[in-house]
Amino acid sequence: MTLFQTSNYLILIVDDMKQNLESLGAILRRVGYKTALASSGREALEQVQIIVPDLILLDLIMPDISGLLVCEQLKADPKLAEIPVIFLTANREKEKLLDAFDKGAVDYITKPFDMFELLARVRTHLKLKSKQEELKKALLVRGKLVKELEELAITDPLTGIWNRRYLYKQAEMEFQRAQRYQQAFSIFMIDIDRFKRINDSYGHTVGDAVLQALVPTVTSSLRKIDSFGRFGGEEFLLLLPETDLDTAITIAERIRKNIEKLIISYHEKMISITVSIGVSSYKLEDSTVELIIQRADAALYQAKNQGRNLVVADSKITI
Ligand code: GH3
Ligand code: MG
Ligand code: MG
Repeated sequence: MTLFQTSNYLILIVDDMKQNLESLGAILRRVGYKTALASSGREALEQVQIIVPDLILLDLIMPDISGLLVCEQLKADPKLAEIPVIFLTANREKEKLLDAFDKGAVDYITKPFDMFELLARVRTHLKLKSKQEELKKALLVRGKLVKELEELAITDPLTGIWNRRYLYKQAEMEFQRAQRYQQAFSIFMIDIDRFKRINDSYGHTVGDAVLQALVPTVTSSLRKIDSFGRFGGEEFLLLLPETDLDTAITIAERIRKNIEKLIISYHEKMISITVSIGVSSYKLEDSTVELIIQRADAALYQAKNQGRNLVVADSKITI
């Protein structure tokens, strides 16, 4: 009679009249549904703890726990709340229907049952439920994709650390925090010395591996609140919140030394690198974070001029 796949669905029928359980069960089983039967509200609530039906046909009036109360308890349980509940009512009980829908029922069927009406309503609500589940899954996948895309948009693909876009955003935030709370805040510009030579002597792929190898050497010296990212090419930027110039210089010196000690092995080649670091800190008169970045850049330029493998700090007075 139908192309709708009924065989996988389990329907719980709850009615205190044995005869109703039997006749409803027989109709549903005949078209391929699986059924579970409960002859009281209490029994129904026990059963749903063991089997989770796809749909429940629930008698409205029962002697122990009424159908309304059963429905209310189902809807209060997150594991069961999504199961569609169709009430079974006698014509004279129709004044209770408003209550039934309030408690979360999706539909009702009046006794005596019409087989086609019963099957039509059951099928509709099973379809609706499965569509809702599909939609939920699709939304979940979409949410995950959006998150992945957001992460990609702020990550440097080669090294996996923050990219320039994120660093600017974070620097702006740190700058505002520093202004509001009169807090210190430092920036490093880290640039690999003579990196072009590495590319020229070993090739671009080795150059890439060197860029990747540098990352853990730097991050091992950092705190959770620091932001380390690739500013471009072989140039990195590090943001150190709540860090004054003197402390920043000590940290920069430690990073410089650790990189100097680092030996990068790539296909039997042993490669050593050094970096130059320009350090600057927030000053009260700074009107934009760009100024602090520019000072770090100028300090880096000085380090390069003074022979490389050096830390140079922006020398002006800081807070
Ligand atoms: P300096 O000490 O003055 O910084 O010298 P340098 O050679 O490091 O600087 P320069 O700016 O002359 O060269 C930087 C090189 O970095 C040139 C460029 O090809 C290389 N580079 C930039 N991005 C990448 C990358 O993603 N992978 C590799 N392998 N090389 C890169
Ligand atoms: Mg360089
Ligand atoms: Mg450079």
